Amino acid sequence: MPLRSPQSEVSKVKVSPRGATRLKCGHVWVYRSDILSADGVQPGSLVAVTDQRGKPLGTALYSSTSQIAIRLISPDPITDLPALLRERIENAINYRESLVRETDAYRVIFSEADFLPGLIVDRYNDILSLQILTQAMDSTRIRETIISHLAQRFHPASIIERTDPRVRELETLAPRASALLHGDRSATTFTMNSVRFHFDALAGQKTGAFLDQRENYAAAASYAKGEALDVFCYQGGFALHLSPGCSQVTGVDSSRPALETADQNATLNGREIEWIEANAFDLLRDYAAANRRYDTVVLDPPAFAKSKRDLEAAMRGYKELNLRALKMLRPGGTLVTCSCSYHVNQDSFLETLGAASLDARRSLRLLEVRGQAKDHPILLNIPETAYLKCVIASVS
Ligand code: SAH
Repeated sequence: MPLRSPQSEVSKVKVSPRGATRLKCGHVWVYRSDILSADGVQPGSLVAVTDQRGKPLGTALYSSTSQIAIRLISPDPITDLPALLRERIENAINYRESLVRETDAYRVIFSEADFLPGLIVDRYNDILSLQILTQAMDSTRIRETIISHLAQRFHPASIIERTDPRVRELETLAPRASALLHGDRSATTFTMNSVRFHFDALAGQKTGAFLDQRENYAAAASYAKGEALDVFCYQGGFALHLSPGCSQVTGVDSSRPALETADQNATLNGREIEWIEANAFDLLRDYAAANRRYDTVVLDPPAFAKSKRDLEAAMRGYKELNLRALKMLRPGGTLVTCSCSYHVNQDSFLETLGAASLDARRSLRLLEVRGQAKDHPILLNIPETAYLKCVIASVS
């Protein structure tokens, strides 16, 4: 395949008026149901997008199987995709350099929010962790462009690809295991907000840690006091941050490997934290019934609403968790409560917290309503880029 494709050789995709309106409103996705014609378009190829009448709308990356058939990458004609990607990667890196402080671990590239749909890159000190989510980003020439640019720009000890079998299946990409793409070391330590963490790039959830909570950890720590309970603690992100300000910290998670790393992280920081392996729902019910009391409670559950269909059950889950936490908080205590479900918007999350506080007969005063860290940018006209909510409230 030539590195440059003359515009005349770029395949054409025609979209419906609804698809065209979506693009004109600043979104970059057009769903398959809004594709009028995509004859002979190869999976993962660069396509010129037009409206029903043939008017050009820009250049996009095409997926032959995803419900998201095209992701716009430019409103203009593009012929040299590798050059465009190198420029976008460079812009993403510069954006972080101007914004990210107090950490050597952060998201370097956040897909659509960095105008690089289908590509996620996280930095953990000297290791880069990469996720490729679309046919276009998975082509050999594009992979090589991305990897060589990152290697040259960061000189990392290694670059690791984390693959998601479900995503690869949806995009009909050949199965591929998570693996080192560059270098030979998969473990390191990183430091955020002066707290140190072990990192093993080939283990763990997401790309290894929850970098999106970095600024929320620091905010939570500024209010934390007394006895603290970090529910859904994973490798101890909140617990480790709360520890200096609290007399006692307990972390709860159902994953033993996560708690083992959490314990190693506590040792690395010279902290004593109690880790409990349990189902959070059961533990909160038992602790509430046994009149256990805390001054600080953090709730950071996994996404309950993976799709719109789960929304009702998800809201019940959030309400129940928050209700139990509120019952356990001493007057004047602090609740730090999160939701990472994109489908649960900030208003409905706050409404659910309000309902839980009524049932618990407690009052909640909002201290901070927060979102994801700035290295996970939110692009205003792409609502899907905003997903994390973190509410910090004083309970009386
Ligand atoms: N607060 C963490 C991230 C939490 S991610 C951080 O800042 O790093 C969600 C966590 O919930 C995962 O570690 C997962 O193992 C855990 N989990 C999922 N279901 C659970 C359950 N029913 N009870 C307890 N933990 C659960």
